Amino acid sequence: MKLAARLFISYLIVIGVTLAIIAITTAYTTPINFTNQMMHSGPMMGGMMRGSGSAVIEDLINEEIEAAVQDAVNKALLRSSVVAILVAGVISLLISQRITRPIRHLAQASQQLAIGQSPSAVTHHSTDEIGDLTRAFNQMAASLAHTETMRQQLIADISHELKTPLASIKGYMEGLQDGVIPATDETFTRIHHEADRLQRLVHDLQELSRAEAGQILLERQPLDLRTVIETTTDWLKPQFEGKSIALQQDLPMTPVQVLGDYDRLRQVLLNLLGNALQYTPEGGTVSVKLGIEGHQARLAVSDTGAGIAPEHLERIFERFYRVDKSRSRSSGGSGIGLTVSQHIVKAHDGIIHAESPGNGLGSTFQILLPIFTETS
Ligand code: ADP
Repeated sequence: MKLAARLFISYLIVIGVTLAIIAITTAYTTPINFTNQMMHSGPMMGGMMRGSGSAVIEDLINEEIEAAVQDAVNKALLRSSVVAILVAGVISLLISQRITRPIRHLAQASQQLAIGQSPSAVTHHSTDEIGDLTRAFNQMAASLAHTETMRQQLIADISHELKTPLASIKGYMEGLQDGVIPATDETFTRIHHEADRLQRLVHDLQELSRAEAGQILLERQPLDLRTVIETTTDWLKPQFEGKSIALQQDLPMTPVQVLGDYDRLRQVLLNLLGNALQYTPEGGTVSVKLGIEGHQARLAVSDTGAGIAPEHLERIFERFYRVDKSRSRSSGGSGIGLTVSQHIVKAHDGIIHAESPGNGLGSTFQILLPIFTETS
């Protein structure tokens, strides 16, 4: 049976029970009230009755009046019950329809979701449980639609990423076979470079799938963040020098201890510094700053490079999101690094966010991690 019908019947039952109670109590109380009323108005009625003769006649008159009153009350009750049932029935019907309308819309929208369509948002603005259910449903539908778009984007991106180096390797091989391309060191280096890109992409994809499945295993131990920064900047120094970009660091004199996985934190820093190197033109500056704020360590990587426009700032942590797709693709970027970095930082109970005054004005990536103390 439909919910509207069940609600309607339940209203009718409540109305029926209420009327039954009114009828029963009226039937019982009317004679008692009547007798009380007669006693109350005793002198006048008594006088009338005494004037009319014997006690038997008095009783007869009493009974007749009582029966007439009972009859009048019953008739009034019957008429008002019929009117009440009709009015209450119509109102119940309208209320049942109104209550079940958003549920019917939700059911239709769920069916659309089930067959892979994206339904338009169900509108119901009440603050009751059905309103909560509608909002939760709309949220779920929006997030499913977003996931679906991301999935399609993911397939398109992966195919595109794989297509370019594969086509390039195939082109070189065919050229070599036909003798159009000479079998020189340079040719083999180019083929190697393309294979390298493929390998990096596959590695990134593996990392991404592990990160998104929450399977990044951390071996956390107390470590000094200064060590992570120093070893990473030492390692990258030649690349910065090669591009004439100054790499500065501003570290505190005392250790900044966090409970972290050395390799994973280094991976995050490599990603941030690698990006800074990539998106900063020659002659620019990249700086790494570490400090303590309350119970948190704040690590900031700033550059004087390309900057990020506000509309992209929120999205650069999404997988495969690249501000300038052609530019970062040509340099091997797949838009996965920051997504994985964010997962790693979150797994360390930290947060990472990006700031930039706008295009061409540089960017700053900040990481906040809880400080480790012996008591924490
Ligand atoms: P990618 O491998 O493409 O660098 P990331 O996930 O590391 O992937 O970065 C995502 C995008 O964020 C980059 O493609 C780039 O558009 C933007 N980005 C990241 N770091 C910087 C930076 N320091 N300056 C300007 N843009 C940046």
